[in-house]
Amino acid sequence: MTIYNFSAGPATMPDPVIAQIKADMPSYKNSGMSVMEISHRSALFDDIINTAEQDMRDLLKIPDNYKVLFFQGGGTLQFTTAPMNLATKYHKIGLLDSGHWADRAGDEAKRVGVKVDVLNSTKDIKYTKLPIIKNLTQDTYDYVHVCLNNTIEGTAYSTLPDTGATTLVGDMSSNFMGQQYNIEDFGAIMAGAQKNLGIAGLTLVIVRDDLIGKVQNLPSMLDYDLFAKKNSMFNTPPVFAIYAAGLVLKWLKEQGGVAEMERRNRAKSDLLYNFLDESKLFTAPVEKADRSLVNIPFVTGNPDLDAKLIAEATEAGLLNIKGHRSVGGMRASLYNAMPYEGAQALVDFLDKFEKNNR
Ligand code: PMP
Repeated sequence: MTIYNFSAGPATMPDPVIAQIKADMPSYKNSGMSVMEISHRSALFDDIINTAEQDMRDLLKIPDNYKVLFFQGGGTLQFTTAPMNLATKYHKIGLLDSGHWADRAGDEAKRVGVKVDVLNSTKDIKYTKLPIIKNLTQDTYDYVHVCLNNTIEGTAYSTLPDTGATTLVGDMSSNFMGQQYNIEDFGAIMAGAQKNLGIAGLTLVIVRDDLIGKVQNLPSMLDYDLFAKKNSMFNTPPVFAIYAAGLVLKWLKEQGGVAEMERRNRAKSDLLYNFLDESKLFTAPVEKADRSLVNIPFVTGNPDLDAKLIAEATEAGLLNIKGHRSVGGMRASLYNAMPYEGAQALVDFLDKFEKNNR
């Protein structure tokens, strides 16, 4: 039976990447050591981290005045780190409340003494639409935080909110390299690796260099400027996760890059959305214009039937389609590594389920 893993993260990885990890495991580049065993101060690792950075720069067309930093601590630690590094003038940020992860970002910023203004929210309609900025005339925010792809609620900004002259900081954790954005539209971008870039334990930050180095004596592990100066090796970096990300980046290049990934993600998600919109049993609650290309929540409206469906899907090898506990129902995550055949298998299964449960 072919297994398809629709987990929201950690998520499915490309088969060739898993195969390469297997091949490399006993002896990386004939060194007699696995990647898990090599020093981060070795020439072998220097090559891994420098190549990963260069490949990311190529794939995302990252301008030279942006730093690429490799952190630990997940997207969540960046909710602390970003305000500590970037909210240095007004100590105040704006936030679009687009769902759980945006809310979490605001919460963590407040914990380090930064004031958070919610510029708009769609909480009252259960985040089925994206909040936009209506009028941001006063430049009194260090930046506006936006969650570009809302993993739980299944929405994504395809057009960026208009922050005018105010810096935009984007949480791209769940659509990093799966949807095209212009890096220059952002002051900083943060993204956990475990959805589109490999395995948990690595967090990417891309930040414009004029925004960093403005605060003295930040905790070293949270200091963008220090990490930039130390090539992300102030301490032992997550060696294996950076190696795995490097393999994913190579795979992305071979597949045709981010534009091709977006095209494929659109094709997969269109297939599923079209089915759901035609269906008499299922509903996809998100407003069409705001739908995510990679996280697709849907419901039957009957929790018992949802539970039955999830159990039968699991038996059929379609794993992890249970929705987030805050939304219920189902959610299919169709990240870069999910093949079209996976989306097709899910649609075929749902179609059969609908016919059997009328
Ligand atoms: N932001 C978004 C959009 C996410 O989806 C997640 C995790 N699912 C996070 C932040 C938090 O990431 P982490 O678990 O790596 O801290």
